[in-house]
Amino acid sequence: MRKITIAIDGYSSTGKSTIAKQLAKALNYIYVDTGAMYRAVTLYALEKSYVGENENLEGLVQDLPNIHLKFVPNADLGISEMYLNGQNVEKEIRTMRVSGQVSKVATIPEVRHKLVEMQQRMGVEKGIVMDGRDIGTVVFPNAELKIFMTASPEARATRRYKELLDRGEEVTYEAVLENVQKRDYIDSTRETSPLRKADDSIEFDNSDMGLEEQFERILNFAQRVILKK
Ligand code: C5P
Repeated sequence: MRKITIAIDGYSSTGKSTIAKQLAKALNYIYVDTGAMYRAVTLYALEKSYVGENENLEGLVQDLPNIHLKFVPNADLGISEMYLNGQNVEKEIRTMRVSGQVSKVATIPEVRHKLVEMQQRMGVEKGIVMDGRDIGTVVFPNAELKIFMTASPEARATRRYKELLDRGEEVTYEAVLENVQKRDYIDSTRETSPLRKADDSIEFDNSDMGLEEQFERILNFAQRVILKK
């Protein structure tokens, strides 16, 4: 059966990664969470104080060659985890500390250039599901299937809030909602590859849809594209 490229883009916390992971598993494709890559660069920037109080984005750009990212499969968990310069940073990159700075780091053209190149290399052989903000527009404009996920900010903040509580982080719903809205704003208005729906992508609003239904519908889209000549 032919292998295709599947691009899943959309706003923060629309459940892109949950669906993308399930889809990759069902099709036996590689799954790549590009948000994890922007988050890992942001963690590095925080550790080196390039972002935060005395911001030095130019310093971060100079230091980019020293940032080495790798996805390492974790057989027990059945997922790939993000490693930054040899260290597993999967937990740290999901914290609010990183969420608070990531969209700013993601506006830096040099950061995007580096990560987009890596992403394109991962997808040369197709058979990949990649989620992010610019996958269907910039990374794989020729992807055979493009999905654009949306949901109301409140539905998204509620999901993210529960996720963070489950991980033991102390946050308020209001702070999570504010972060989700702020990231959407920065992501949609930045100059370099802003978040927007590709003309040929399928818009998918999942505010009132359970996971199972979303998965079935998207798997169906994928199967139809795969079988089409
Ligand atoms: O997907 P996730 O919410 O983990 O992404 C974190 C942030 O990384 C986004 O809010 C966005 O600023 C940035 N990002 C991006 N382009 C991508 C993936 C993520 O700009 N392809």
